[in-house]
Amino acid sequence: MSGGLQLGVLLGDDIGLEVVPEAVKVVDAAARATGLAIVWTELPIGRRTLDDLGTTLPDGTLERLDALDGWILGPIGHREYPKIPGAVNPHPILRKHFDLFANIRPAKSYPTLPSVHQNVDLVIVRENNEGFQPDRNVVAGSGEFRPTNDVTISVRVITRAGSSKVARAAFELARTRRKQLAVIHKDTVFKLGCGMFAEECRALAAEYPDVAYEEIIVDTFAMRLVMKPQAYDVIVTTNMFGDILSDEAAGLVGGLGMAPALSAGPRHAMAQATHGSAPDIAGRNIANPYAMIMSAQMLLGWLGRTKSEPRATAAARAIERAVDATIAARDALTPDLGGTATTVAMGDAIAARVCGGAAARASGGDAG
Ligand code: ATP
Repeated sequence: MSGGLQLGVLLGDDIGLEVVPEAVKVVDAAARATGLAIVWTELPIGRRTLDDLGTTLPDGTLERLDALDGWILGPIGHREYPKIPGAVNPHPILRKHFDLFANIRPAKSYPTLPSVHQNVDLVIVRENNEGFQPDRNVVAGSGEFRPTNDVTISVRVITRAGSSKVARAAFELARTRRKQLAVIHKDTVFKLGCGMFAEECRALAAEYPDVAYEEIIVDTFAMRLVMKPQAYDVIVTTNMFGDILSDEAAGLVGGLGMAPALSAGPRHAMAQATHGSAPDIAGRNIANPYAMIMSAQMLLGWLGRTKSEPRATAAARAIERAVDATIAARDALTPDLGGTATTVAMGDAIAARVCGGAAARASGGDAG
């Protein structure tokens, strides 16, 4: 790749306006430190766009994103959108349109941060476009309907192709880590749906003999995750189980501010933190930018692998080191992590360490 990376920025709502610029700042610092060329395209989305243009997802957004390698999407405060036609929740549309079928959600503890458990380092790979999510599991209408005033039916979609795709992504990820994969389902009750998901995972296990494979029923796993999260490396599961379990995992390592995520598909990936737009803390410069910064770091890592761009891989590594060093130093942490720093100060500290680490390595010093 010669012309560098084409990346999009979509700020989103509420704390998105604060944490996304910090992620861009840190990515820019890493790009400078590693010689990676990035061309940014900012695209409007969300509540402010509704006020300006009458829609939360302006015409042409999908086409413009299609031309990019990937993008950063800030959190979307869709629950507070008015109930009017232009006020759609954009992120399920993006996930579906670009077939971003794997939602990759790490949970990692740090010894210097308050955490329910220490030595946690796991990744939940959640199927992103099927399951019970009514806004994604049909092409028109909704996967929920109400035949009478007193009855609601929610449809859950599981396909062999969707299950197999996400399972392969999880096996591949496990291969790059501690080579353990746990498949979470409930085929004791959902004999056909979870049964099909588990069958597709099992079928792939033979192709990955180097990956230790186990299946666990979701309720048992929810308990074990709380008691001994250190036992798990990569976890793969269906959409709604993954949504719930990844928030649980975030709670074990410091809360939603510590929960980055990447939605990845065949040609694109979208950095989107697990947290929502947190309107309760928006506008106060106290939101933790870690999740958004590390989501962007995951995007660079993905681009490094899929676009054969070693400078993107180096930039991702530089960000990870700078984040680790900032957390270890405890000198620029937001209040949710027990510090007093602002969002901007934490972003500045990480960006400075990205540059400082690169300079130290260039002069043969210890980058930390
Ligand atoms: P959604 O359903 O849209 O994902 P949610 O119900 O999970 O949203 P969030 O908006 O993610 O809710 O936030 C829940 C709470 O977690 C917030 O009220 C806020 O206090 C805290 N929180 C979320 N993100 C952060 C962050 N980046 N920094 C600090 N606190 C956060």
